[in-house]
Amino acid sequence: MRTWKWMLTAFLLITLSAMAQQGADQSSTSNAVPANAAGSQTATTPVPTAQPAASQAANPAAASAATAAPTTMDQVVDRSIVREHALMDMLKTRTPLVETYLQNLKSDQKLGPVPSEDHYFLGRLDLGEAVDRRDYLSKDESFEKNLLGGVSKLFKFEYKPMGFSWMIFADREDFDRGHYSFKYVRREFLGDVRCLVFDVTPKKDAGKGRFLGRIWVEDQDYNIVRLNGTYAPRPKNAMYFHMDSWRLNLIPGYWVPAYIYSEEGDFSYGAKDKMAFKAQSRIWGYDLKKGGKEDELTSLRVDSVKDETPSTTDASPLEAQRQWQQQAEDNVVERLQESGLVAPDGEVDKVLQTVVNNLIVTNNIDLPRPVRTRVMITSPLETFSVGNTIVVSRGLIDVLPDEASLAMVLSHELAHIVLGHNLGSKFAFNDRMLFSDESTYNNFGFRHNPDEETAADAKAMELLKNSPYAQKLDVPSLFLKELSERAPSLNALLTAHLGNSFTNDKGQLVRLSALATTGPALDANKLDQIAALPMGGRVKLNAWTDRVELTKSAPVAITSARDKMPFEVTPFFPRLSRLTSDANTGNATSASNTAPSN
Ligand SMILES: [Zn+2]
Repeated sequence: MRTWKWMLTAFLLITLSAMAQQGADQSSTSNAVPANAAGSQTATTPVPTAQPAASQAANPAAASAATAAPTTMDQVVDRSIVREHALMDMLKTRTPLVETYLQNLKSDQKLGPVPSEDHYFLGRLDLGEAVDRRDYLSKDESFEKNLLGGVSKLFKFEYKPMGFSWMIFADREDFDRGHYSFKYVRREFLGDVRCLVFDVTPKKDAGKGRFLGRIWVEDQDYNIVRLNGTYAPRPKNAMYFHMDSWRLNLIPGYWVPAYIYSEEGDFSYGAKDKMAFKAQSRIWGYDLKKGGKEDELTSLRVDSVKDETPSTTDASPLEAQRQWQQQAEDNVVERLQESGLVAPDGEVDKVLQTVVNNLIVTNNIDLPRPVRTRVMITSPLETFSVGNTIVVSRGLIDVLPDEASLAMVLSHELAHIVLGHNLGSKFAFNDRMLFSDESTYNNFGFRHNPDEETAADAKAMELLKNSPYAQKLDVPSLFLKELSERAPSLNALLTAHLGNSFTNDKGQLVRLSALATTGPALDANKLDQIAALPMGGRVKLNAWTDRVELTKSAPVAITSARDKMPFEVTPFFPRLSRLTSDANTGNATSASNTAPSN
């Protein structure tokens, strides 16, 4: 429970505090780069050459590209251009998932800019020569409609096939000195990583849609680790938005694009901007098997269920039935993991499992098969259960304010299990697993009918009232109230794709609505009342391995109602660090095994 404990007190976990980490290194000029060296690209400007031998040894990819350490800023720029092309090359064969969650904003007198409506996009990005995106939600017409409606201009750029990869790389086609000028700005730490900062501007006749902004280049292998800026010049009738793109050192020698925050719009007094939005994009699943037809068949290894019965006799009919159900459950969970929708079993599951066990033990629940938990990597707030496996989305874990709220969420799914609602076993037949990753959403669905939902809610209340969380239901109740209040403007966030949604299509709360009628009233002005957290604050995702863990950020004091930002999108500020040999042998093992050799 220790892991969870800090979460009870850590209310505002988002990256605001990280701003303070910047600029620490500006006075350190011991490596002879003048602090005011802006623009000085003279051949005599030395640069730090600290390049531990160990890093080279562990890093054959970089070592081959780097024969000698650069001695001038010009050489640093050249190296970073080489590394950027090496990254594009390495990612050519990859088809990661990309998710964008976007909130359009309106101005609220008390709370500042608040979401007025939202949009969700999940697709698979092909980083090969022919850039293409395939949409997991292709059947979702409303998204297409939205795309053609008010926001189409906004998205024109992003959803042009080439568009998204432009946000991932500075310039996919022409990142070179012929098209860009580079100006050294300063040195700066991003997290634990010392970086050289350059301003990048397109040259006069470089053409439309060129990157204009700033890059951070780490000082060992000279990979770009962060890009911040926009694209210029703007074509007519299209808006280019600003983006802040972060990369993480997840495999030796490479910094892999993982987070992009983008926003546009200005709410300052007198501003005429009618369009305003903020959006988080996440990229993950780099190490998933590529979804070719052949792969699909060969990757469907369905391991037979381990027979854990101590006897050597054949299974009785009841035992056979249970094994059959276990096989269906395992098939589905494995398939969801293979398509990059569900994270591998890990640290977060231990936390979820502990809460589930608290409910099970205090309610004297005795089940023939163990209850397990998994995290779905996507943002929309949803839960569902497959047999005895409860799945909770990352987005939902992110916004839950405390452990009792988590118990509230889990109790509903546990109720389905206890009531025997999940006994369907059609997925025990392996042919039902033979579909492409992109059609996962169309082939799986774990929705319950309204009667089962009502029964599960009633049972969930009973489970909660017998549990250690019985006296702590005020916060879960506030969470549901906040969700209810915000629901009309958060339709995309509240649309479940595999399970039942918290709200109906009119935006009314349907999940555990009885609990929402109890407890204290929602009051935005009460600074100690935190009903729901902003998006993205709790769960950290390894974009290469899909593993999830809990973020470790210190709580930040809330000073006004505007700081609460329930369910809202905020900028990313990941703490950058280099891949250590520890991480290599630990959870990044699979990454190093598949590290490219070029
Ligand atoms: Zn349900």
